Amino acid sequence: MDHDQVRDVDPDVADALESEVDRQRETLQMIASENHASQAVIDAQGSALTNKYAEGYPGSRYYGGCEHADEVEQLAIDRATELFGAEHVNVQPHSGTQANQAVYFAMLEPGDKILSLDLTHGGHLSHGHPANFVGQLYDVAQYEVDAETGYVDYEGLAEQAEAFDPDIIVSGYSAYPREIEWERIQETADSVDALHLADIAHITGLVAAGVHESPVGVADFVTGSTHKTIRSGRGGIVMCDEEYADDVDSAVFPGGQGGPLMHNIAGKAVGFKEALEPAFEDYAEQTVANAKALGESLSEHGFSLVSGGTDNHLVLVDLRESHPNTSGGDAEEALEAAGIVLNGNTVPGETRSAFDPSGIRAGTPALTTRGFDEDDCRTVGDLIARVVDAPDDDSVIADVREEVTDLCAANPLYDE
Ligand SMILES: *Cc1c(COP(=O)(O)O)cnc(C)c1O
Repeated sequence: MDHDQVRDVDPDVADALESEVDRQRETLQMIASENHASQAVIDAQGSALTNKYAEGYPGSRYYGGCEHADEVEQLAIDRATELFGAEHVNVQPHSGTQANQAVYFAMLEPGDKILSLDLTHGGHLSHGHPANFVGQLYDVAQYEVDAETGYVDYEGLAEQAEAFDPDIIVSGYSAYPREIEWERIQETADSVDALHLADIAHITGLVAAGVHESPVGVADFVTGSTHKTIRSGRGGIVMCDEEYADDVDSAVFPGGQGGPLMHNIAGKAVGFKEALEPAFEDYAEQTVANAKALGESLSEHGFSLVSGGTDNHLVLVDLRESHPNTSGGDAEEALEAAGIVLNGNTVPGETRSAFDPSGIRAGTPALTTRGFDEDDCRTVGDLIARVVDAPDDDSVIADVREEVTDLCAANPLYDE
């Protein structure tokens, strides 16, 4: 991956871009929301469509010269339709957050009620946290996971829905390792006459591949990010039934955005085509098998996993019992020094803070893209344990760093 043209104009940025490619190649990307898009997706995103204004939708634009933009956006829509089976698809949201905001803007009035999972229990900022405008514009109540099991407290959610009488219930999470029971949440939504937004941001690829049950056809709205497990380049997507199509489309544009990022929509089109290939199903299955292997390895090393394991692409480790003197932030820092990049994360019943939480979250989407299998992921579990058991031991960190280098060299990235 060269950046010769950038280098001619701007060596500083070229240096940073090349260093970033090296960083991705030479260290383990285990942030659960990250992945490695293919060179084809990256090329599509870096295309001349970045120049094009295409406000509106295919066949009905506010500008001339949109025939190729139309073609690309329609391909993205058609492929998403084939992947997910939704009646209506909008591929214009700049991000998953903006996809969620579009649904709220389409369906709610200021002051209306949102019931969503607490952020420290695995929810997302865009589900009504006060730091996001969604939390300030709407009346938000939050449900939780069961403190004992780590699974969504579906009964508690039903009781809370009864008492709070929400206009919309949000499901789909950022740090939740278990299968989500869409239908059970839908029943609760129906029982209180609320809409249901299923946010599959993290698991878009798993749902596309049929490795996680799909909320399409169950929930009223399904939103997602396109750069996480589906590796189609950075962006968002909204899906809904035909009855909400016009409201959703006008909430995305002009409601929340101006000109669509047509170059990113080209990336989505290419990435969705890749996801329609049979090989993508293998990828998604391997991603989950790898997360299970990683989780087993960590458990064997004495780590406590929230919910005891995983059904998807991530594990959430609660360090409080096994490593009471090491925060998630400390672990993140030591692991990064050893070439293992993941994030400190809050855990259910958090007793530290969002800035220095008690857990770490680790995902396998990016490792799986570069070819890691279950054995590799068990080895990664061993390496994580060595570092977190001795976060201040420089010689341990140096040894692990070398093993990480070997693992990376054995699984090359971007045509090394
Ligand atoms: C990542 C994520 C999003 C969207 O994130 P963007 O960075 O805006 O694409 C939305 N919801 C959940 C649950 C997420 O994990």
